[in-house]
Amino acid sequence: MQKDKVTMQNKRIYFDHSATTPVDKDVLKVMAPYFTETFGNANSVHGYGQKANAALDAARRKVADLLDVKPGEIYFTSGGTESCNWAIKGAVRTKERNRIIISSIEHAAALSSAQRLEKNGVPVTYLPVTSEGYVLPETLQNEIDEKTALVSVMLANNEVGTVQPVQKLAAIAKSAGAYFFTDAVQAMGSIRVKPKELGADMLALSAHKFYGPKGIGVLYIRGGVKLDKLISGGYQERSMRGGTSNVAFAAGLAAALEKALETQEKNVQKIHKLRGYLIEQIYKRIPHVTLNGGTLHRLPQNANFTFDFIEGESLLLRLDLEGIACSSGSACSSGSLTPSHVLMAMGLEELKAHGSIRFTLGKNNTKQEVDFAVAKLVNIVKNLRAMSPFFNA
Ligand code: PLP
Repeated sequence: MQKDKVTMQNKRIYFDHSATTPVDKDVLKVMAPYFTETFGNANSVHGYGQKANAALDAARRKVADLLDVKPGEIYFTSGGTESCNWAIKGAVRTKERNRIIISSIEHAAALSSAQRLEKNGVPVTYLPVTSEGYVLPETLQNEIDEKTALVSVMLANNEVGTVQPVQKLAAIAKSAGAYFFTDAVQAMGSIRVKPKELGADMLALSAHKFYGPKGIGVLYIRGGVKLDKLISGGYQERSMRGGTSNVAFAAGLAAALEKALETQEKNVQKIHKLRGYLIEQIYKRIPHVTLNGGTLHRLPQNANFTFDFIEGESLLLRLDLEGIACSSGSACSSGSLTPSHVLMAMGLEELKAHGSIRFTLGKNNTKQEVDFAVAKLVNIVKNLRAMSPFFNA
């Protein structure tokens, strides 16, 4: 018992899997040979190049098979951010159809791409969400018109984990003749992600969210979709994305995706149960706390809370001192003090949005870790509230 206590005291606990995940050891093994033995440039004609090219082809085929799409519809990118930039900036090609409709709770990768276009004169409409963090199909139906080039709504939100009704939204976009893009970066490995079933014309993935390496992603582009390129260069990715191919990372992404899908059911069951326990314990032991975001359609790993009378950043730092890593909604750590645009779009008061904190669980977390973190949290919240000018218990 005493030994267990000591082990937990020295342990660091990672509850920030929506920020990134560690690379799975099996994935690392798959990647290793491509740094040293099979290091050729996939575009070179000699044997080294051919071997690298064969590995790149194999990775593409594996990803395509796992997503039930064609290899020619898979493009490797440098990650989720590039995939979102490409889908959004590449879709506005004609003067007649140049309007973008995008949800107000997208990740900055997508939102800032739309904002950039807006600065250059492209009309952009931001779809509101419900207080639970869902985009309603009727809102899109009321907005869409014959000028709309693209509708962009993420499959699952990174802050509150809400899963959007993408199938319905995609059908509305299609009937209006617009393309539909979904950012599935957070969804992969947690819920079913099949581009054709969803009706997506484009779909973004990022390997480091499902135990693959950072710096590689996928943009699925349905055959027949006309998209401008984002990065000009050589003939890589069927001349659509220049730059020497990152074979090691493409192989890693494919291996990570395969493992994520093979183990998804088991992992989700475990994580879902653990998340339920975390929420139950927090509600039971800490007063004045709210779970942000709807629970009906939500990623199993996400629990986003507002602790009244406290700043999320202070909570985050105090938890970090205890070895517990999670993240806060307000982006002080990234150089700005603005509260989360997601929570604000859901109608939270600014003070409450500032008090939010996100726990995202992963496949290796344990009940013991949750117990340890909740015990620390109870004390930290008590201490911070005692110092808060807003709190009078
Ligand atoms: N989209 C969502 C929903 C994300 O959560 C993230 C990363 O947090 C991204 C896009 C960006 O992905 P990347 O880190 O691979 O650029």
